[in-house]
Amino acid sequence: MTFDNTVIAITGGARGLGLAMARRLGRQGARLALMDLDGDALDQAVSLLHAEGIASRGFIVNVADEASVQQAFSDILASLGPIQGLVNNAGIVKDGLLVKAKDGKVEKTLPLSQWQQVIDVNLTGVFLCGREAASQMIEAGHQGVIVNISSISRAGNMGQSNYAAAKAGVVALTTTWAGELSRYGIRVGAVAPGFIETDMTASMREDMLEKLTSGVPLRRLGQPEDIAESVAFIMTNEYFTGRVIECDGGLRL
Ligand code: NAD
Repeated sequence: MTFDNTVIAITGGARGLGLAMARRLGRQGARLALMDLDGDALDQAVSLLHAEGIASRGFIVNVADEASVQQAFSDILASLGPIQGLVNNAGIVKDGLLVKAKDGKVEKTLPLSQWQQVIDVNLTGVFLCGREAASQMIEAGHQGVIVNISSISRAGNMGQSNYAAAKAGVVALTTTWAGELSRYGIRVGAVAPGFIETDMTASMREDMLEKLTSGVPLRRLGQPEDIAESVAFIMTNEYFTGRVIECDGGLRL
C-alpha cells in the first residue's frame, strides 16, 4: 500500500503521538482525516500540517459516543472519500489504586466513573471507530489497514487498572479483527509504545525523569516519531497482520 492519495483517519490526531503520525504518513502523500474531541487543537494541527505541505482536515468527534463516531465517519466519506487506513490512537489516563488501607480502614480509591471513562474512550472508542472504518472499507471494495495503539501497560501497571485493562483489550480486538477481516483484505495491527517524550514527561522533575530513563535498556525515552515509524511500518507491510509491535526501547526485555 502506498500513501499516494489514500485517506487515513487518525483519532486523537490533534496533538502528541497522533500529530507525529499525521506528519509521518502525510509526508508520504496520505490525505489525513484528523479526528479529535478538541476543536481548537484540531484547527492548530491542520494549519501546522498545511504549512508543511500536508493535506489534512479536522473532524470533531467523541470516540466514546456511537452517534458522534458514525457522524464523523460519514462526514469523512462525504468530504474526502472512503478511508483506507485508520489509526485508533485517542486515549486518556485517569489513574488510581484499586483500594488503599490505613489503620484498618479500607478506602475504595478507584471510583466506577473513573474506571468507566477510561474503558469508554480507550476500549469502546477503538471498537466503535474500528467497526465504522471496516464497514467503510468493505463497502468501498478497498483493501485497508487498521492500527490500534495499545501500551506497555497492557501487561499490568500499578495504579492503572482501567488503562491496563483497556490497553490489553485493544490487543484482543487487534487479533480478533485480524482474523475476521482478512477475508475482506483488511489488515489489523497494534503498536504498544513504552515511555515516550511528551508534554507530560517534559513537566517531570529531572531526577524522576532520570529514574524513568535509567530503566530503559536503550537509555532514552522514545520520541513520538519512533511510534509514528512503527505505525507507518504496519500500514505499508502487506504481510503484517494480527501482531503487536512493542516500541519501548527494550523495557520488557
Ligand atoms: P495526548 O493526550 O497527547 O493526545 C491524545 C489526544 O486524544 C488529544 O488530542 C485528545 O483531545 C484526544 N482525545 C481524548 N479523548 C478523546 C475522545 N473521547 N474522542 C476523541 N479524541 C479524544 O496523548 P498521547 O501521549 O499522544 O497518546 C496517544 C496514544 O498513545 C494514547 O492512546 C495513549 O494511551 C498511547 N500511549 C502513549 C504513551 C506516551 O508515553 N505518550 C505511551 C503508551 C501509549
